[in-house]
Amino acid sequence: MREPNPGTTNGGISFWYADDGIPAPREPLPGDTTADLCIVGGGYTGLWTAYYLKKAVPFLKITVLEAKFCGYGASGRNGGWLYHGIAGRDRYARQHGKEAAVRLQQAMNDTVTEVIDTAAAEGIDADIHRGGVLEVACTPAQWGRLRDFHAAELAFGEKDRLLLGARDTAARVRVTGAVGSTWTPHGARLHPAKLVKGLADTVEALGVTIHESTPVSEITPQHARTPYGTVRAPYVLRCTEGFTANLKGQKRSWLPMNSSMIVTEPIPADRWAAIGWDGRETLGDMAHAYMYAQRTADDRIALGGRGVPYRYGSRTDKDGRTQAATVEALREILVRFFPTLAGTRVAHAWSGVLGVPRDWCSSVTLDRSTGLGWAGGYVGSGVATANLAARTLRDLVLQDSGQGGPTDLTALPWVNHRVRKWEPEPLRWLGVQGMYAAYREADRRELSGRTTGTHPLATFADRIAGR
Ligand SMILES: Cc1cc2nc3c(=O)[nH]c(=O)nc-3n(C[C@H](O)[C@H](O)[C@H](O)COP(=O)(O)OP(=O)(O)OC[C@H]3O[C@@H](n4cnc5c(N)ncnc54)[C@H](O)[C@@H]3O)c2cc1C
Repeated sequence: MREPNPGTTNGGISFWYADDGIPAPREPLPGDTTADLCIVGGGYTGLWTAYYLKKAVPFLKITVLEAKFCGYGASGRNGGWLYHGIAGRDRYARQHGKEAAVRLQQAMNDTVTEVIDTAAAEGIDADIHRGGVLEVACTPAQWGRLRDFHAAELAFGEKDRLLLGARDTAARVRVTGAVGSTWTPHGARLHPAKLVKGLADTVEALGVTIHESTPVSEITPQHARTPYGTVRAPYVLRCTEGFTANLKGQKRSWLPMNSSMIVTEPIPADRWAAIGWDGRETLGDMAHAYMYAQRTADDRIALGGRGVPYRYGSRTDKDGRTQAATVEALREILVRFFPTLAGTRVAHAWSGVLGVPRDWCSSVTLDRSTGLGWAGGYVGSGVATANLAARTLRDLVLQDSGQGGPTDLTALPWVNHRVRKWEPEPLRWLGVQGMYAAYREADRRELSGRTTGTHPLATFADRIAGR
């Protein structure tokens, strides 16, 4: 098939690995073994969990089993928004009361600082720059949603969030057509692969055993089974997020939603002078099928969005390869935002999967009767959330094993949350395709100026989604 974007690398896991190199492989599981705790999945969730548990109880024997290599999943492919957003907060407020959801939000605000400080303390250089999060509105409908969003965040206790008009927005980043924005300091830009590689090295240096190229086929109480042998452990923690459907019995738990990204070649200083973005805020918009972007440490723009939302039967991509139409759609957003970049080459495109539970709420669970635990369903807001989940899993395991008591984290409303399964195919596929077709059409109509409020199609899509 002709490559419609000549000069663009497609796949290869992600640009972040093209930039920083795929790590040297670690040995697969050599055979049956035992551990105090087995973690399945070597992304941020699994590695942070290993980190905090090993720090808390240095003699714990922890084994991490990773199907490919640590960081192969979303943790090595994401947009590098380390920010305080958490999927499900509003539903948790409805279910557990506002005060509980405010505590969850506060914990997320603290988590951004926790990741930055811990990376620094461990000598992990992940190009972290704390420039906050800037979300822009480019249509009257987006501006209406943005003001509602701003008011809601203030009501959840955020004191330092700003609402900016067109001129103040342009003083930060000159996005064509931006009518306003909101900015919060609770966010930082980072290089995803540098963080996950640094984390894997750090936990290994602490004495955690990591086996790569070791896919777990089934998790049952006290067992993680692989083609090379079984790890027996009182606690088995599933940290497989968007890949969870591949595990036996998990086909319909978390839906693997695609997200795709492009990155430009390095942009010369004169073009940056026209764009601004000196604060290197993470940048997003208020479209229903929203975009997210960052200015990288080497002065590229990395920009992501939905593309084809979901593959039939919960299949996942092949090593990050994405559809040509998605690359083009993301390039169009780039040029709509920054027309001076019309001639700028897209250097690399890729995709990955994130986990979406049926009620769109991230959660962290330890089943005390079986010793099985899991965390995820972050719906695309997992870079910081995985760290909070990991510290919570630590506290739950310590409490269960009699080495600790209840903590502020174990009392958060997302702990031990239960959710129903997704519908079987073809309903699952039809629902997700229909939902995103409706979001895209709503965005198109809002952009065309034919509607000034949120288009009813988007409200309809929210209903199908069960949000
Ligand atoms: C393109 C993209 C952009 C994103 N951008 C952002 C962003 O900017 N900010 C943000 O907050 N979030 C973002 N996210 C979401 C965020 O990256 C994830 O929520 C987070 O990385 C999840 O971490 P994790 O460790 O739970 O899962 P993953 O990083 O997906 O790790 C799961 C690991 O488990 C392994 N695995 C899977 N199955 C098995 C098995 N059977 N046996 C053994 N190992 C297995 C996988 O190989 C993988 O390494 C993005 C996601 C994508 C895909």
